Amino acid sequence: MATKEAAERKNLMTEQIKKLGKGVQIADEQGDKKLVEGFMADAFKGKASFDEVFPWPERSLKSAKKAEELLKALDKFFREKVNPDLTDESRDIPFELFGDMADMGMFRLKIPEELGGLSLSQTDYGRVISYLTSYYGPMAILVSADNTIGCKFPVWKYGTKEQKDKYLPELMRWPSGFCFTERNVGSDPARMETYALRVKENGKTIGYCITGQKEYTTNAVLTDNVPLAKFLSVVVRIVDNPSEIQTEKDVKKFCFGLFIVPTSSKGVNVGERLDVGLRNEFFGMHGIYNANPLFENVWANPDQLIGGEGNGFRISLQALNTGRMAIASSCVSIAKQCFSGSQNYAEKRVQWGTPIIDKELIGTEKLARQGLCYIFAMDAMTNYASLRFDSGKDSRLEATSSKVFSSEKMWMIVDNNVQIHGGIGYETHKSSSRRRKVFPADRFFRDARPNRIFEGSTQILSQWLVGEGMKFLKPFAQMGTWKEKFLLLCELTVNRINFVRIPDVPRPLRKHLKFVRRKVRKFSNRVLFFAARDMVFLALQSLVDKEDKKKLAREMLTSRQLTLWRLFWIASYLSAMVVSCSRAVHFGADSAVEMADGFCSEARLCIDNLFREFYRNNDRKMRRIADGLKEDRYAWFIHSDILPLIDQLNLK
Ligand SMILES: Cc1cc2nc3c(=O)[nH]c(=O)nc-3n(C[C@H](O)[C@H](O)[C@H](O)COP(=O)(O)OP(=O)(O)OC[C@H]3O[C@@H](n4cnc5c(N)ncnc54)[C@H](O)[C@@H]3O)c2cc1C
Repeated sequence: MATKEAAERKNLMTEQIKKLGKGVQIADEQGDKKLVEGFMADAFKGKASFDEVFPWPERSLKSAKKAEELLKALDKFFREKVNPDLTDESRDIPFELFGDMADMGMFRLKIPEELGGLSLSQTDYGRVISYLTSYYGPMAILVSADNTIGCKFPVWKYGTKEQKDKYLPELMRWPSGFCFTERNVGSDPARMETYALRVKENGKTIGYCITGQKEYTTNAVLTDNVPLAKFLSVVVRIVDNPSEIQTEKDVKKFCFGLFIVPTSSKGVNVGERLDVGLRNEFFGMHGIYNANPLFENVWANPDQLIGGEGNGFRISLQALNTGRMAIASSCVSIAKQCFSGSQNYAEKRVQWGTPIIDKELIGTEKLARQGLCYIFAMDAMTNYASLRFDSGKDSRLEATSSKVFSSEKMWMIVDNNVQIHGGIGYETHKSSSRRRKVFPADRFFRDARPNRIFEGSTQILSQWLVGEGMKFLKPFAQMGTWKEKFLLLCELTVNRINFVRIPDVPRPLRKHLKFVRRKVRKFSNRVLFFAARDMVFLALQSLVDKEDKKKLAREMLTSRQLTLWRLFWIASYLSAMVVSCSRAVHFGADSAVEMADGFCSEARLCIDNLFREFYRNNDRKMRRIADGLKEDRYAWFIHSDILPLIDQLNLK
């Protein structure tokens, strides 16, 4: 009886997760089942584990030395061979540069030395990505799409010895691509339609036939009809019958697979048909070779399947986890570059008798508050996530929060850069350089934007992070034994009464860590309250009839995503404060303490505001307005005095 009840409760929980969006649900069903660990994970339980972050983690000196040499080589390469503005204008990264990049080791950065790679740690890999981004962003995307999410990572980490021997030598000489996104699959992999059909002989699988079309694959096409990558890693659903794609909707039964597919295989179509072979043109990131490859009955031998059947999604998530740290490094790099451009211009530009850096709204607000202090925190978060990963610790939450935090705050800094440059910030490089030397604010503005979209959008990742953080509550929500429940209750109680010692930090930072210690408990209380509210609603749901159920579900959904959103930002700010303090101690410079102190005092205001919003918000009102949007209640106003392009372009 008890088991039946528990099973029912589990089903209801699954329903709940469904309401968060299928992507989050799949991540839950098919992702890593291990509970998350670290400072952020402990914060969900009400414990401020400063010892996770203090002292600042050690880095590998061997890898750092190699990275230094590589950065020197890159510096020379950039100065002698790459003209970012010309490349941006021509929209092509010159083909002849690929050989130089391969010689420098750009396509084998993280592969271990014994397999022929450079064996860079994640931290040093991040430095290389940062350096590439600072000079020409699309080059960093080319390299990271290959090294982190392309074929290398799955083969190196999950391939058998035979697969490594077969694929790695060629992969390390040339960029590869990662095919996940489809027309209906961006944030929502439950709608994946590309499939690999098992081909059987005497009941044994002898191979697969891959069919479907992917979208936005970076490194897929060099020019129209000509592939760039020699290999693509293709994520598919493995089926016995193509009709399963339409009939089987239960994600728990999905069997994902990740295949290494040579672009020379029969049926891989990056050309021939115009709608397939054309390179995607973006308003930024000029020069990335991105396209929508089509797979028509492409034969794949069993040895092209990496990690076995059923593991494709999990491997992709692992790849994306390291990919996110690389994106965060890119964002820090863009922010630093734009900030230094802004500062330089603000010091030189004189208006109303003084340089504009002396105006409070520029120097204090945009440069100090919204710029430098945030960059210090972004840098600390990104480095901390990578160092944690390098030391073999779980870094899923840190990677995710550093990606979202850095990409969102970077965008504020990039936008401020245009604002600080005034009119010249809106000119293209070509226009302004005819008259004077200027910072390429427009290029950074265009190139920076997709960082908030790809490798997990801000919205999806924020919901995912809180979902992962709350999984420790499973013994209460699902089939936990009484012993498990009791132990968890004890742990939560101890966390609330236990006195956590503040690490040894300079005086200005001490008060911030005390603040974190207090707010971590408050944060955990909000998490528990949120979870309890959900459970009460679930219990009520089973008591009422169908109509009332609908009303209840609506009630429950109101504020759900927004609550998770607030929890995400509180967790991220708290973690950012602690890592910033630890980094400042590690640097040991007074200026580092000033930056950490500046960020922490800013973060405290944000955290207090977010807590306040739990009770004082207008979510319900906005929800009603959002409902009205679907009923076209406001169209009369929005469409007045404009020529609606959605009608003219037939987009409805
Ligand atoms: C330059 C570039 C390079 C790329 N390279 C690759 C590549 O190499 N390989 C590859 O596979 N893909 C690649 N992509 C695709 C990219 O990963 C997707 O665009 C991204 O995952 C978002 O998917 P989507 O475009 O379908 O947006 P959608 O999933 O349709 O999302 C649209 C909006 O809705 C929001 N949203 C969606 N679901 C929810 C929810 N449940 N709750 C709240 N908000 C939600 C999203 O945050 C987003 O703001 C690339 C994209 C770009 C722009």
